[in-house]
Amino acid sequence: MKKVGIIRCRQTEHLCPGTTDIKLVAGGKGSFEPFGPCELVGFVSCGGCPGKEAVARAKMLVDRGAEVVALASCITKGSPLGFPCPNRENMLAAIRAKLGDIPVLDYTH
Ligand code: SF4
Repeated sequence: MKKVGIIRCRQTEHLCPGTTDIKLVAGGKGSFEPFGPCELVGFVSCGGCPGKEAVARAKMLVDRGAEVVALASCITKGSPLGFPCPNRENMLAAIRAKLGDIPVLDYTH
């Protein structure tokens, strides 16, 4: 069973308890479908705008066992407000550069 870490948007965490993501990881659905049912090992925010802490937090998730890291849909799709993170591409590129071979998913659902 793959271990997963998720990074969410700090600006919207007060609007969403992450229930959908937690269920998708456990059920191997959404962006986690290629991996089957997974175990959530961490669920952290980007640290706040402009998202620079996301790289260190992604590394922390891997150090705690994550074999897959996902940016939640609040970051890349703008859920639930329809307002995607303006820094999402930079954040994604920096995290991927840091994590090397660890898959970094650009959405959760
Ligand atoms: S950097 Fe992006 S993901 Fe992080 S709090 Fe700001 S808008 Fe949200």
